[in-house]
Amino acid sequence: MSEKRLENRLNQNTSPIIHAPSPSDHPSPITHHGGKPRIAVYWTGSCGGCDVSFLEVGEAIVEVLSRVEIVFWPALADAKRSDLEALPPGYIDVALINGVIRTEENREMAELLREKSKYVVAYGACAHLGGIPSLANKWGKEEIFRTVFGPGFRPASPLDGNGEATLPDLTERAMPLEDVVRVDYVVPGCPPPAPLIARFFEALLSGEMPEPPYVFANVKALCEECPRVRHDDRRIERIVRPHEIVPDPEVCLLEQGLICMGPVTRGGCNALCPAAGMPCTGCLGPTPEAGDPGAAMLSALASLVRFEDEGEEYFAREDEVLEALADPLGTFYMYSTGKYRRKR
Ligand code: SF4
Ligand code: SF4
Repeated sequence: MSEKRLENRLNQNTSPIIHAPSPSDHPSPITHHGGKPRIAVYWTGSCGGCDVSFLEVGEAIVEVLSRVEIVFWPALADAKRSDLEALPPGYIDVALINGVIRTEENREMAELLREKSKYVVAYGACAHLGGIPSLANKWGKEEIFRTVFGPGFRPASPLDGNGEATLPDLTERAMPLEDVVRVDYVVPGCPPPAPLIARFFEALLSGEMPEPPYVFANVKALCEECPRVRHDDRRIERIVRPHEIVPDPEVCLLEQGLICMGPVTRGGCNALCPAAGMPCTGCLGPTPEAGDPGAAMLSALASLVRFEDEGEEYFAREDEVLEALADPLGTFYMYSTGKYRRKR
């Protein structure tokens, strides 16, 4: 009963979306030109954090960058769209694209990079799943413009002739990269953590890239690598937010009432957040077994929210516990609204 009510709250503004990624006809293997694979790095609708994240690997980034040929990386070196257009198809070995697809320009650049590259990597949660920006799919773009810029605002092309700088129009919804081009690899995270960036570059530089499609993260759930203790008879009698308690330093956060997405999220980050006392928010994306992260977490919660005694008289109290969840969409789909939910 409780699970159903929570699901209804989620469905108030969004509905499930079905995707059909088609990882067919994979191109030829990566060629190392003079020992150096050619790479491109580009951001679409991005906060910039993914571009900065390469520094997470520390001094090793100097070694990595010395062993690749950077063909196109606007955040690092001046490069124009015309430079990319001038390249022959398939010239770039690997294009790492971060950010959500939110404008027509985002879509065009993703398609251009796809054409010029043997392999495309969705780098970071926005490119992988839509990311935090895709939570905006709860509202239509007209409502977003009205709320942010006020009534009467009209987006237009900056080159529409009147010489005034304006904002580009938005696509109808914020999309993960796989909605507009074929994606071969994913380096997940918001931004990707150092161990997964290292895994990707180790594979690239050794010439031993896995068969696509492939996600550079663990298949098993984060709980498997979390240092916190889980008890067999665990149950949740109240839901709390991180600022409301000082959690026990050793016990599973979910048992303490904090909604931790660890049971349904891929591992690979060494459980940095739960180890530091913050619940996992799911940035590496769901495990293959979990599938839709919200549905899987809802199911897990429905079995965990219970009291010592059972019976119909406890149903209402269980409902109250679940009602305390302040933001079901932002909690269960913080990074994946673009992939798993969409506006009705
Ligand atoms: S995945 Fe996170 S760090 Fe990367 S662009 Fe999106 S919001 Fe920024
Ligand atoms: S704290 Fe989170 S990641 Fe760690 S065991 Fe509990 S649910 Fe799993």
